[in-house]
Amino acid sequence: MMQLQNFIGGQLVAPAAGRYLPLVEPATGQVFAQVPDSDAADVDAAVQAAEVALPAWRALPAEERGRLLVRLAELIEQNLDRLARAESQDNGKPLSLARTLDIPRAASNFAFFGTAAQHFSSEAHVQEGVAVNYTVRHPLGVVACISPWNLPLYLFTWKIAPALAAGCCVVAKPSEVTPYTAFLLSGLAQEAGLPAGVLNIVHGTGPGAGQALIEHPGIRAISFTGGTRTGQHIARSAAPQFKKLSLELGGKNPNLVFADCDLTEAVRTSIRSSFANQGQICLCGSRIFVERPVYEQFKAEFLAQVQALTVGDPLLETTRQGALVSEAHLQKVLSYIDLAHQEGGRLLTGGHRVQVPGRCADGFFLEPTVFEGLAPDCRVNQEEIFGPVVTLTPFDTEEEALHWANGTDYGLSATIWTRDLTRAHRVAHQLHAGVVWVNTWLHRDLRTPFGGMKNSGVGREGGLEALRFFTEPQNVCVKL
Ligand code: NAD
Repeated sequence: MMQLQNFIGGQLVAPAAGRYLPLVEPATGQVFAQVPDSDAADVDAAVQAAEVALPAWRALPAEERGRLLVRLAELIEQNLDRLARAESQDNGKPLSLARTLDIPRAASNFAFFGTAAQHFSSEAHVQEGVAVNYTVRHPLGVVACISPWNLPLYLFTWKIAPALAAGCCVVAKPSEVTPYTAFLLSGLAQEAGLPAGVLNIVHGTGPGAGQALIEHPGIRAISFTGGTRTGQHIARSAAPQFKKLSLELGGKNPNLVFADCDLTEAVRTSIRSSFANQGQICLCGSRIFVERPVYEQFKAEFLAQVQALTVGDPLLETTRQGALVSEAHLQKVLSYIDLAHQEGGRLLTGGHRVQVPGRCADGFFLEPTVFEGLAPDCRVNQEEIFGPVVTLTPFDTEEEALHWANGTDYGLSATIWTRDLTRAHRVAHQLHAGVVWVNTWLHRDLRTPFGGMKNSGVGREGGLEALRFFTEPQNVCVKL
């Protein structure tokens, strides 16, 4: 059986205590590898390796750091098929999605930040004849990057790339549920010639390796993407040591469909925004509010397309819905389907586990599921389900739609469908969401600030925001 290893000081190494966790392929339910169950000793070794590498790495010109990151991007592109297969096997997502979204984006993350560091500059404030102030942005030092299971390599590299570009050294922990591509990245980092210790990857559980990492006194900042509850816990642990925090957390995103929109496009894209990656994207729009005059038409066209989504073996080109990430997660999503029935929802389609024949007979498959008739303040419409379950609700006025859209503890993203440009801006500005899409979804420009309001997070990543996060400004004042 394949045994993954940690990546510490430029070497692939076994966990100090020799403990491993089983890694399950969601599409088959079978164990296919073992992943290190690392502990504080492994984390400490990784932080020490990063500290040793730091002086030379931060002293390298940004251009040279960038060249290595661009090289890593090229290697990811060259290994597209291998990485996409690994991601699909590890996570259950359709291979076609991993090949067109996850892995290309991982390459873009390194290419983007590899060059962005050269465009990063700091300010000068001149007081004529009196003094000149300039700002130096120092790399923070050794930082932690912790990522979730839904977009494994995509989100892992989204954090690592800007940290390295800014001159920090990294100890990164991927999700223990989907560590395979992070392990493969270790080999590519070696091949790219990244100096030993600049990037360290420690595998293991949240309470084990994760907790040791966030508590380690050598870690100056934590960039975390994951659940809101874990984010709260990390904030509590990190606060006494004054660690800088970037927290990208959960969402319960609204999708507002106004009657004047291009309905064909709204339906087509809402299928993606509801069910892409089996609904396991933090930006998925799980609460669909439709203006009453087009509600029945939207519903009919939407349901027809939902029923045409093929659930099956992620390796098949025809598959649109792969497996959910684990049996435990499938059970959690099924419990919300039960709750939707209890809360008075009408099931319009889906709602059941799917038995896929052949090699996937023991996989974690679920029908894409749509409910209507649920109150906007019920639990199903308030809590993050993070699966292929959406609700449809008609609305009568813009105010009502905004009130419901904003009526959760979350504030990550929102989508608006309308042809009225004035309304689009007006509604966008009133939505409590860090990202608002108008007539599109998951359109990402890596230069834009990314992050959530309210319980969806603290801080922004993306573009120069990420480089600012991983650096500390210093004011130097010179008397003229
Ligand atoms: P999770 O919070 O359970 O785990 C995320 C990561 O944190 C994992 O690597 C885990 O091992 C680690 N972790 C857990 N406990 C820890 C601890 N005590 N100390 C340090 N690390 C710890 O989340 P998940 O189930 O892997 O991912 C799903 C969640 O992620 C959803 O809520 C989703 O909305 C959110 N998410 C948010 C974004 C965003 O950009 N806002 C993107 C993707 C996913």
